[in-house]
Amino acid sequence: MADAKKELNRVMLSLYIILAIFAVCIVWAVYEAAVLGDYIMMIPGLVIGFMALVFGVPLIWLRNSERRVNLRVAVIVLQSERTAFSVLAGSVGCSDAEARNKVVWCLNNGYLPGYVISGQEVLLSKLMDPNLQEHAVECPNCGASFTYVGKIGQCPYCGDYYPPKK
Ligand SMILES: [Zn+2]
Repeated sequence: MADAKKELNRVMLSLYIILAIFAVCIVWAVYEAAVLGDYIMMIPGLVIGFMALVFGVPLIWLRNSERRVNLRVAVIVLQSERTAFSVLAGSVGCSDAEARNKVVWCLNNGYLPGYVISGQEVLLSKLMDPNLQEHAVECPNCGASFTYVGKIGQCPYCGDYYPPKK
């Protein structure tokens, strides 16, 4: 199962690594200059450090920008049983239609297990009208697998009902 929160953390982690490279290079440069008094050897530390910052951060940020917003949408949806597209649109700053597209992306990529789109919102499929839902079950009597639509199903092999009658 795809985990939106973990994916988001991964993007943030790569940013922290860039910042760490920058910090190490600057410390190296300061060490060369201030402690060893070598102002020539200060230059590579400064150059590498700033290159990492100036090119690395935008590269990671821009390359993941679309994906990042999509993952944020997934994290918001997972917090509640049902979320209107208008609420998502307000949270991430896009139109309702764009919010819907982002939800579709999340569904297609497996970030929203158990969720479906219904009208103008995304909700847990178990909240949908049970009369319209298809259920896949294992017969408690004979163990056969079958599917049924509605509230009660009948096993095609042994004729038992599901859910079992009390
Ligand atoms: Zn059966």
